[in-house]
Amino acid sequence: MARYTGPTCRLCRRSGEKLMLKGARCLGPQCAMERHRLPPGQQSTRRRRLSDRGLQLREKQKGRYIYGMLERQFRKFFAEALRHPGITGDKLLELLERRLDNVVYRLGFASSRAQARQVVRHGHIAVNGRKTDIPSCLVKPGDVIAWTPQGAKTKYYQAVAEAIPSVTVPGWLQLDKDKLAARVLALPSPSDMETKFDEKAIVEYYSR
Ligand code: SF4
Repeated sequence: MARYTGPTCRLCRRSGEKLMLKGARCLGPQCAMERHRLPPGQQSTRRRRLSDRGLQLREKQKGRYIYGMLERQFRKFFAEALRHPGITGDKLLELLERRLDNVVYRLGFASSRAQARQVVRHGHIAVNGRKTDIPSCLVKPGDVIAWTPQGAKTKYYQAVAEAIPSVTVPGWLQLDKDKLAARVLALPSPSDMETKFDEKAIVEYYSR
C-alpha cells in the first residue's frame, strides 16, 4: 500500500500545528514546529487567511496526515462511513481509530502511528492468533491483538516490554501488560479519541 514518504515535520508546518507524528521527538526541542512555525516554502511572515473551503481542506489533510493515509484510501474510509446510519463524522473517527496500526500505537507497542505501521508490516502482530501484516485492517470487539512468536523474539519487543508499565490505553481496549496482549472490548466512541482535527469539516469538505 502506498504511503507518504516525504518529510514528516513538513506536514505539521503545513497544518500549522503539532500533529505528533514522530513519537518522542515531538516532545523535545528538536521538533520542527518549535523552530519554524511558518508553512513550508512561504516567504511571508504572515499566514494567509483561509476561505471556508480552505479550512475544511486543512482539517481533512490533518486527518490524513495523523493516520498516515493517502487521499484515495482516506476517501474510501469516508465513503464507508457514509454508508452507515448515524453521524458520518463519528463513524469516520471510529473507522480510523479501528485501524490495526492505530491500535498498535494506542496500545503503546509503538511511539507513533508510522512506527506502528512498520511493526505491523514486518509481521510482528497477530490478530486472533493469525499473523496480520495489513496496517489498514480494522479490528472489532472481541479481537485479541498480540505479538507473533517471531515478533516476540526481537530486541524491539524487549524495549516495548520495559516501557509498557507507563502506558495508559483508551477504555475500548484492554491491555494485559504482562503478556503484551490486548482485547478489543467495544467500538471506539468519539470521546475515546485523541483527535486533532474537526471531523465535521471533513464531512462538509467531501459533501460538496
Ligand atoms: Fe510534528 Fe513531531 Fe515533527 Fe514536531 S517533531 S513537527 S510534532 S512530527
